[in-house]
Amino acid sequence: ATEAKPYDVVVIGGGPGGYVAAIKAAQLGFKTACIDKRGPPGGTCLNVGCIPSKAMLNNSHIYHQTLHDTKERGIDVGDVKLNLPQMLAAKENSVTTLTSGIETYLFKKYGVDYLKGAAAFETANKINVALNEGGETQLDAKNVIIATGSEVTPFPGLEIDEERIVSSTGALSLKEVPKKLVVIGGGVIGLELGSVWARLGAEVTVVEFLGAIGGAGMDAEVAKTFQRSLQKQGFKFKLNTKVIGGERQGDSVKLKVDSAKGGKEEELEADVVLVAIGRRPYTTGLGLDKIGVEVDGKGRIVIDDQFNTSVPGVKCIGDATFGPMLAHKAEEEGIAAAEILKTGHGHVDYGAIPSVVYTHPEVAWVGKNEQELKADGVNFSVGKYPFAANSRAKTNQDQEGFVKFLTEKDTNTILGVHIIGPGAGELIAEGTLALSYKASAEDETLSEAVKEAALSTYDKPINF
Ligand code: FAD
Ligand code: NAD
Repeated sequence: ATEAKPYDVVVIGGGPGGYVAAIKAAQLGFKTACIDKRGPPGGTCLNVGCIPSKAMLNNSHIYHQTLHDTKERGIDVGDVKLNLPQMLAAKENSVTTLTSGIETYLFKKYGVDYLKGAAAFETANKINVALNEGGETQLDAKNVIIATGSEVTPFPGLEIDEERIVSSTGALSLKEVPKKLVVIGGGVIGLELGSVWARLGAEVTVVEFLGAIGGAGMDAEVAKTFQRSLQKQGFKFKLNTKVIGGERQGDSVKLKVDSAKGGKEEELEADVVLVAIGRRPYTTGLGLDKIGVEVDGKGRIVIDDQFNTSVPGVKCIGDATFGPMLAHKAEEEGIAAAEILKTGHGHVDYGAIPSVVYTHPEVAWVGKNEQELKADGVNFSVGKYPFAANSRAKTNQDQEGFVKFLTEKDTNTILGVHIIGPGAGELIAEGTLALSYKASAEDETLSEAVKEAALSTYDKPINF
């Protein structure tokens, strides 16, 4: 057998957590390898997540706006037709441009060795790689960073065929627009991908177990406004409702649903059902048992505040461990983990991780929401400013939504910023900065709607 290749750092998984950790480690002078079995790097996010979904969201929005929102603006358009194969090709093109950029440019520039294959622990310091092209290789690693990410949580009894019963992956590549799309789960994926197909012409029904949409973290008042807005766009919502069974019958899917409390059974029929009830850590085939890495009841790899697993020399970051399953959270952890290896120090500000839902209107938030502050017994002030009072939003005829500030009552320290409306995903960066610097509402000076909402926590707004 050939000698195992020696590395300072071996990163398992080439997603936003893994590829960023690998580049940072190489920049810090470590001999670094990154392994991914998918082939192209970029993980879930670049291949079947953030990037393709944002491509479809952007282009479906342009299509929908061109169809419905040009006349009053003084733009007469002729026949507007959907060319779905081209829209899907544009999405694929965005994906391959970005993934090949990592592989052929970034990894080469910073000297990361990229291996395409499935990694498994032989020991804590020896990684076997079953190469995609055939054959095996072995790496010797002083340090290992696990960044194997997550997978779709399956719905018991509904087999995903990625054709009629799909996960987000199938929903990003449907060959035709379904007449009826039923989404199980009214979280981020359900609402983003539901929006894509609703804009392209599907009748979308969302079945959500809880009494509100948006998933964990969304402020209840924002969620209500968001729901009303999506209903205006044609969404139907069945809240407090659970799916109790279903099956594919030829080209359609029959679902049995019931109210969360029971006693209101009904049947829904759909051309396509999207299962979007969350994601779970993915560590299959990694051999965690073999070396004794501790995993919790939800399958998350247990780590300490320096990303150390229970096995010395093995760290874990991103979706495979605790915290929100977000690409920028995984990236921050990747950088911090590499810095800790070099200097012993590295930090992620878990109190200031923004969330963005890229629908129209956009929804974004950072910090605590109202229901969390109430549950924690915090004495807080609320400042709110509607986009309908904002000249630019009004002029652009895009005035749905508001900015909402939550501050600590005595000190006016910002505790949470919640935005629904135009540009929410960009505006939230200001809130994130404010939160990480523990700013008070008086410090807010930048964009107008944000400033006025901040002002409203301790004084009267000017334009509302
Ligand atoms: P992943 O990106 O899942 O990467 C893990 C990689 O490890 C995979 O490529 C896998 O092939 C590889 N791997 C696993 N096991 C092995 C092994 N044994 N050997 C070799 N390789 C292995 N987040 C956002 O912040 N913004 C968004 O807009 C957003 N949109 C999303 C849309 C969708 C439809 C989905 C599904 C997710 C979205 N996310 C978004 C979440 C985001 O994709 C994840 O949080 C992020 O990808 C996590 O990064 P990661 O590096 O931890 O894991
Ligand atoms: P989610 O946790 O956001 O939402 C799942 C929803 O399904 C929740 O509202 C939950 O109450 C509901 N649900 C759970 N079980 C159910 C059941 N049996 N019947 C009906 N409803 C049920 O999960 P997701 O939408 O699948 O997204 C997965 C992850 O991907 C999230 O953690 C999210 O952070 C990430 N993501 C992020 C973005 C973004 O940042 N823009 C986009 C897509 C995905």
